[in-house]
Amino acid sequence: MKHLLFILLILISIHSCKETSFLNSNDISTETEVSDQLVRPNHYSAYYPDSTFAIRYVRVNFHIMRDGKGLHNFSEEEGTAYIHEYLIETNKKLADNQKMFIPDGNNTPVLPTRYRFELAPDPNIDGDDGIYFHNDEELYNFVKRSKKRSQMSNFIFKKYGVQKGKVLNVFVQPHHPDSLKSKTFKKVITGIAFPNKNWLRLAGLYSYSRDTMGIKKGVAVTKGAWFCAGLMNHESGHVLGIHHTWSGNDGCSDTPNNPNCYTRQKNAPCNTKASNNVMDYNTYQNAWSPCQLGKVHRNFSNKNSAQRKMLKRTWCSLNPDATITIKDKTVWTGSRDLEGHLIIGKRAVLEIKSRVSLPKDGQIIIKPGGKLILNGAKLENDCGDYWSGIVLEKRGESKGQVVIINNAVIKDNTNGYRTKPKKGSTSKKKNNKKKK
Ligand SMILES: [Zn+2]
Repeated sequence: MKHLLFILLILISIHSCKETSFLNSNDISTETEVSDQLVRPNHYSAYYPDSTFAIRYVRVNFHIMRDGKGLHNFSEEEGTAYIHEYLIETNKKLADNQKMFIPDGNNTPVLPTRYRFELAPDPNIDGDDGIYFHNDEELYNFVKRSKKRSQMSNFIFKKYGVQKGKVLNVFVQPHHPDSLKSKTFKKVITGIAFPNKNWLRLAGLYSYSRDTMGIKKGVAVTKGAWFCAGLMNHESGHVLGIHHTWSGNDGCSDTPNNPNCYTRQKNAPCNTKASNNVMDYNTYQNAWSPCQLGKVHRNFSNKNSAQRKMLKRTWCSLNPDATITIKDKTVWTGSRDLEGHLIIGKRAVLEIKSRVSLPKDGQIIIKPGGKLILNGAKLENDCGDYWSGIVLEKRGESKGQVVIINNAVIKDNTNGYRTKPKKGSTSKKKNNKKKK
């Protein structure tokens, strides 16, 4: 019994020996082994998303285009309901990435997409819901005609776009009523994307929503919002920086071409060569390859990209639930915008080779025996604010370690060592002294 008590006392004393301190210039080492990983920081493979990636929210608004009398497209009530459902169906596909059909028998990994769409009302318009209805006899339908009316013209966006550049503007247009009457007209759901301008147009949603596919439990099943969700993911894919996969070279080796198979069929070649990729034309449009997702997330992380401008800025305020804990040897080659704290566990090593933004008051906590290698990295707050700093935990002889090599930068932190003095801060002198 005495023996047990003694052990207990030792355990308590060891536990109470834990010390914490913010990173000091004396703590920094420049000697370490770095990974031999050769991925370039700007290569798409540095951005293959995993479950530690913050989900990116692309802000979006919708414009329902009707003729001068307000006809040939959804009423306000029906249109509002449709758009809400449409976003649910679009996000459902994004949340349920499927295995690629091609090449037949492939082992292409199925990664989480880690992005979604979110309706973005304009904060400058009272009571706005981000869904707009325009009656415009001249511009409402989706046809090629005069120069002003050409499908590639940006006239409609110029006239009606809201929060241009900052929000993905989606114009929902009907096919021309005369076309729909014609027996030779092939009705399709189709669209056109305008990358870099952050807008797109979709056609066919309204007339498909009128098509009945059959009766289920006494209720008519229509080609409603779910039927057209693949189109939204396809056209927005263009805006997010990915390309058609069925012909030519889209810059991805994991998205093979296919011989125009619209759907899987019994006979060759469409029995084994049909595609379900979102950037093909097919009935599924439910698979994103690692390369495609890497490209999208690279654009989201690039501070100068058009795609990043559309994101909801989820990385500015601290969300403790989004804290990431590193448990083994990990390398971050691509840039990240963290939403919570970053913890480097006992015996874990995190090597950062890129830009990482910490949220306001966010901390990097290094457990005893854990190691952070800043290899040309840049730690910052991307929101013009300050994160807290790097906390080292010590227990006995074991302490968290920090290695700084290849001109790594630590900035915008309130506490502890930083490579550049804080802007307009009184602690500037203290810091300069530290550096000497
Ligand atoms: Zn396309």
